Amino acid sequence: MSQQNLTSNPAISRAHSIRDRFAAALFAVGVKWCADERAALDWAAPALVFAPHPDDEVLGCGGTIALKAMAGSSLQIVIMTDGRTSHAQFVDAQTLIEMRRAEAVDASKQLGLDSSACTFLDFEDNRLAEHADSARKQVIELLQKHRPEQVFVSHRRDRLRDHVATYEIVTSAIREWGKPVTVLEYPVWLWNTWPWTTLPGLWAAFAGLPRMLRDSAELAFGCRTRIDIGAVLPRKLDALAQYRSQVQRHNDDSRWPILSDVSEGSFLGRFCTGIEVFRRTEQGR
Ligand SMILES: [Zn+2]
Repeated sequence: MSQQNLTSNPAISRAHSIRDRFAAALFAVGVKWCADERAALDWAAPALVFAPHPDDEVLGCGGTIALKAMAGSSLQIVIMTDGRTSHAQFVDAQTLIEMRRAEAVDASKQLGLDSSACTFLDFEDNRLAEHADSARKQVIELLQKHRPEQVFVSHRRDRLRDHVATYEIVTSAIREWGKPVTVLEYPVWLWNTWPWTTLPGLWAAFAGLPRMLRDSAELAFGCRTRIDIGAVLPRKLDALAQYRSQVQRHNDDSRWPILSDVSEGSFLGRFCTGIEVFRRTEQGR
C-alpha cells in the first residue's frame, strides 16, 4: 500500500470538520497554557523505543524515529509482544507472528534503521502483564547493553492492557537500572477520543464523558513535547504501509479488520499528521 492509499480514505482526508478545528484549537490552548517543549529534544542521543505490539512504534513515534536516525542516533526498537491475536480468527498464530515480525523489520528500514535495529521479546500478545517479572529482567539487560539517554514507551494510560503493562515494566526497569534517562511516553489508543476522533454515538459519549475529558486534557496539556515531523511524514507513512496486516485486508477479505476501520478512519488519521506528541519526564536526574 502506498502512502497515497493510506491517506486517500475519504474518512481520513475529510478536512476542516468542526471536530478537527476543535482539536486544533485545544492544541493551541495547550501550547499557550503549557511550557512548549518542542525544541528541546537531543536528536543524536542514543535511544530505546519500546512498543507493546508491532506497529505501535510507527504509529506513536515513527516520525521522531526517522528524525533521530537522520541525526545519527544509535537507536533500537524493542517489541514486547508477538502480535498473535490481532487477526487470530483468520490465520494461525505462528503465521501471524511471522507476518508481523517481517513487517516490523520492513517498517524500521523505511525509517532509516538497519535490519538489526529490531529486538523481539515475543511475549504472548494480550498477556504481557502476566510475565512482568521476566519482561522487566530482559528490559534491564537491554538498558545495560544499549545505555540509552532517551526511552520512548507507550503512554501510562494508553487503554490497552499490553500498552499500560509496557509502560509499567519499562519504567520500573529504568528505576532499577538507576541511570539518568529522559522518558517520552507516546499515546496511541489514548487518541481514540473526541475531539481527536469521531464521537462513538451520543449515549456512549455521555457515558464516557469523564474519561473523554480526562483523555483530551492529557493530550492537550499533558503531552507537552510536540515534535514537528512534517519533513519525514512521507517516510512515516511508508513505514506504516509496511504493516500490511494492519492496513490492508488480507486476501481482500472484507471481514479482516484494519486500522482505518477504527472510528471511521479518524483514529488512523491522527497518525498521518505532521506532529507527534509525548509526555516527558526525567528519571534519575
Ligand atoms: Zn498496540
